Parts: sequence; C-alpha cells; structure tokens
Amino acid sequence: MSSADLHLHSQFSDGTFAPEEIAAHAKRHDLRAIALTDHDTVEGCERTAAACAAASIEFITGTELTAEHNDHELHILAYLVDMQNPRLIAEIAKFQKVRQERIREMVTRINELNIPLKAEEVFALANCRSPGRPHVARAMVKAKLCGTLDEAFERFLKKGRPAWVPKAKMSALEAIELIHQAGGLAVMAHPGLNKTDESIPDLVAAGLDGIECFHTKHNAATAERYQKIAREHGLLITGGSDCHGLSKGKPLIGTVRLDYLHVEKLYAAKKAADEKREAAAK
Ligand code: AMP
Ligand code: ZN
Ligand code: FE
Ligand code: FE
Repeated sequence: MSSADLHLHSQFSDGTFAPEEIAAHAKRHDLRAIALTDHDTVEGCERTAAACAAASIEFITGTELTAEHNDHELHILAYLVDMQNPRLIAEIAKFQKVRQERIREMVTRINELNIPLKAEEVFALANCRSPGRPHVARAMVKAKLCGTLDEAFERFLKKGRPAWVPKAKMSALEAIELIHQAGGLAVMAHPGLNKTDESIPDLVAAGLDGIECFHTKHNAATAERYQKIAREHGLLITGGSDCHGLSKGKPLIGTVRLDYLHVEKLYAAKKAADEKREAAAK
C-alpha cells in the first residue's frame, strides 16, 4: 500500500526541518506523496516541491490557517492552492504580522516577570515570517531561562499562563472561501484536538471539502468517528503526522500514514472544483 503524510511543518513556520530534510525523511519512510502545511504561510512550498521532485515524491502545496468559529480556535488546512494567488498571499501576510506583534507582546509579558528575554532573540531564532509560541519557548531554553520547551509552555505560554496572548484569527468561514478562490481544498485539521465538532455543520454549509481523520493525536476510535462523519457529509478523508521536526523529540513524519487512495480522491476533488469554476466563468 502506498501512503502519504499531508500534515508537515518546516522551518518556514515552527518546524525545525528545512524543506530538503523533509523530502529526505519522506523518501526514507517511503511516502509516495506529502503536503507542506506551515502555519499561515506557503513560503516553503516552492523549495519543498523542488526537493520532492528530485526525490520522486509527489508534492501537494498547502498551509494551515489559524481560524475561529463561534469563539473556538480551529485550524483549516488548505491543499493544492495556487501559491501565487494575490488574495491568499495578502491575507496570510496580515496574519504573519499579527504573529510577529504577538511575539513582542509575549516577550513584554515575560519581561514583566523580570525575565530578560529579547524579542530580537526570538525573531533571530525563528528566522521566518510566521513565528509562534514554540519559537519563544526555544529562545527561552537557548538563553537558559527555562530548562525545557515543556517548562516554557507550562510556566509561561499555555493559555491562562502569564505570557499567553490571544491571537487575532481569521473567521473559519472566510478561510474556506479564501482557499476556494485560490483554487484549493479546505480541510478541517485535527478536530479531535480542537474539540469543535459542533462547528462541522456550519463549515460544511460553507463548503468545507474534508476532515483530517488520521492525526498523531487521534486514537483509532477518534479516527473512525471522523471518518464516519466525513462519509455522512460526503467529505474527503485526509491525514498526517503534524511533524514539527526535532522540536518535540523524535520526528513524527512516517508515523501517520494516509492510504494513497485518499490522495487520489483529493486530486479528483480539485479537478472537479476547477471544472466547476471554469464552467461558471463561461
Ligand atoms: P501558536 O501558533 O503560536 O499559538 O503556537 C502553537 C504551536 O505550539 C503548535 O504547533 C503546538 O504544537 C505548539 N504547542 C502547544 N502547546 C505546546 C506544549 N505544551 N509544548 C510544546 N509545543 C506546544
Ligand atoms: Zn506548529
Ligand atoms: Fe494545528
Ligand atoms: Fe500543524
């Protein structure tokens, strides 16, 4: 059975692997197809596509948009989007700016606790346009202000802790529309993690294309439950490891394997959506 991993992060957001390292790991795990789904950016896609082409791995462009619906955070995966789509690029650039400002705010709060972290240290370490809490945690460990990443989250960065800062998010319904106008497919990421099942009917009504059923944090029963929901709504089934490289110990790539038949269905859905758009434009 050939398989795929459709949820991976690189150095272009909070993963630790370069695009070329991701392709090398994918090859080693004998993955037929992978998608790069960095948070709020598609910047890493071009290099990952080139590295995958050289390794004879199918590459699917993607991003993971931070969104909200009825005051609940949820993540929407975008697949097969046009990386050059002007509206997509402009919209995600706004959220990258929000992320950068949020880093400054988190550092300010850490400083108020008399801990001498500098925003510039976090930005230097992140070295990307879409920084997040893991970069703050890594910078704290690097500056010996914390022993481990977990300690940084537990003491400072987790929701409700002193340096936690809420993040302005895109509406999930708008995210779906944004993805569609960029020629992509919109998939609800790890619903078992966000516990926002009650949002599913609204997202489906807005044109949601799929549900990520297989994920590192989904056990077999959870994966089964979301496959059932996906089938009931006629949605695509996707899955991936959500690998962030070496930031959380052993890399997760290769541990969640999506049957390639679901990738074929993804391509077919993209083709059908393109044909529908072309017919509507005539
Ligand atoms: P952000 O997008 O800035 O809110 O950060 C979210 C990222 O932080 C996700 O990639 C999570 O996997 C990661 N994260 C959340 N909680 C923890 C934790 N306790 N330890 C390590 N990483 C975490
Ligand atoms: Zn992440
Ligand atoms: Fe996520
Ligand atoms: Fe993710």
